[in-house]
Amino acid sequence: MEGKDNPPNQEELGREFMDFMKKMMAANPTAAPEAIREKTGEKPPAQKVRNFEFSFKPKDVKKHLDRFVIRQDEAKRVLATAVCDHYNHVRLFQENSGKGSYAKQNVLMLGPTGVGKTYLIQVLADLVGVPFVKADATKFSETGYVGLDVDDLVRELVHKADGDVKLAQYGMVYVDEVDKIASAIQAQTRDVSGAGVQRGLLKIMEETDVPLRNPQDMQSQIQSMMEFQQKGKVSRPSINTKHILFIVSGAFDGMTRIVEKRLKSGVIGFQAAKAAESKQFDLLSQAQTRDFIDFGFEPEFIGRLPVRVVCEDLSAEDLYTILRTSEGSIVRQYRSAMKAYGIELHIDDPALWEIAKQASAERTGARGLVTVFEKVFRGLKYELPSTSIRVLNLTPQMVNDPVQGLKEVLREERSERSAAILGEIGDFEKKFAAEHGLKLVFDKDAREKIVDRILDESGETGALLSGLFSNYGYGLKLIQQKTRRTVFKIPAEGIFNPNGLLDRWVKEVYG
Ligand code: ADP
Repeated sequence: MEGKDNPPNQEELGREFMDFMKKMMAANPTAAPEAIREKTGEKPPAQKVRNFEFSFKPKDVKKHLDRFVIRQDEAKRVLATAVCDHYNHVRLFQENSGKGSYAKQNVLMLGPTGVGKTYLIQVLADLVGVPFVKADATKFSETGYVGLDVDDLVRELVHKADGDVKLAQYGMVYVDEVDKIASAIQAQTRDVSGAGVQRGLLKIMEETDVPLRNPQDMQSQIQSMMEFQQKGKVSRPSINTKHILFIVSGAFDGMTRIVEKRLKSGVIGFQAAKAAESKQFDLLSQAQTRDFIDFGFEPEFIGRLPVRVVCEDLSAEDLYTILRTSEGSIVRQYRSAMKAYGIELHIDDPALWEIAKQASAERTGARGLVTVFEKVFRGLKYELPSTSIRVLNLTPQMVNDPVQGLKEVLREERSERSAAILGEIGDFEKKFAAEHGLKLVFDKDAREKIVDRILDESGETGALLSGLFSNYGYGLKLIQQKTRRTVFKIPAEGIFNPNGLLDRWVKEVYG
């Protein structure tokens, strides 16, 4: 009947649904149920079944960290030992076919931003060969509320391990800004989400099975439904958190006051004065469980973090050392970015110092280096790839005034290119004389115009001039026959309108 849509048939509906599922699986292949893959011909994700191997000693691990992370010696020693302990336990646990138990060495790191806390863990995870996930504690809400759920962290590990659940269960989870979920309670506000998040973290830090499909997630729900339709039952894959190593960290502003107060209350006179003089690093190093509880942590939560390390602030000299020696330094990144355009980057020592000094003034640790590099290279990275520059020597002056620095680099390049173009103009004059037995000479203005055109249009001098003066061989010969003239000086007009100029010259002679 006209005016009424036909209802879609079942086959069409089924096809549309399969298309929809295909799209969903493309977004998250590891979560695709088998039944759907069979239907759609999708390949299952690689399931690398492997036993965990670990044979490092703490000193080897520290040595490896030294290649990338500058300073933080105490943190490196403690972390290297904790990681070796943890993964040796994992190995022994496997060798004993899953029998026996051990207390996990979860780590609490204290220290200002940008001093290498995340970097240490990242390098460790790479060395051990396990997936690594980082998140900010402030992004989480209590399970069941809107926002990220701590279980998502564990699921993310599986994602990072390309769906290899076995590998993911030995991964590392790093939660930054944990001090923020404590201070909510400390401030005696009515916001209890901090305590809720702590409880959520506590649960996964101990041992729990986290379902691989998020029960709140629409995609997972549809997958379960599809699986039920295809197989008549729904599998509930999960990951156990027993062997996952948890590292939490924060700047812990305000903690020094708590430690200082405790230190002072227990001592008198001279020692009290000494306590007051202690530097931030020393005070944080002396933080005890009760200080963390005073700070606003649940005792059970802090109790699950037996390994505590303090990372120290980085001086301008440390930042300079990072630039000079760290294998992961940002200098390498910029070098390879410039290399991609065929430009070799050299940064002399005084320029490195200047960068380090400016970065230090940012007061964001080594993150300041990224800020300074971005500022210094912003114009250079945009302009230089389109020039003939093949080597860039970065000087302290360029670090101090990148805009002026860029101008000078470009001016220098222009004058070098100009000299080359002038040489090419000479070559054209010679070629013309050889071919036609006549001398074509460009005057000063004409030469300038040619140089400008080549530089602006990135053209080729010989090709441009051959094109502009293609009629001159014949035209000038006509003039020569009448006048015996053999030398022709080309003014700037010849560059704008070569044929017009030739016409005029011929008419003057024959007109
Ligand atoms: P945070 O302490 O806030 O976790 P990050 O570890 O994320 O800081 O540091 C940011 C970046 O700065 C790192 O990726 C690394 O490139 C560099 N960096 C920070 N600290 C160091 C360090 N001690 N040695 C070498 N590089 C560092």
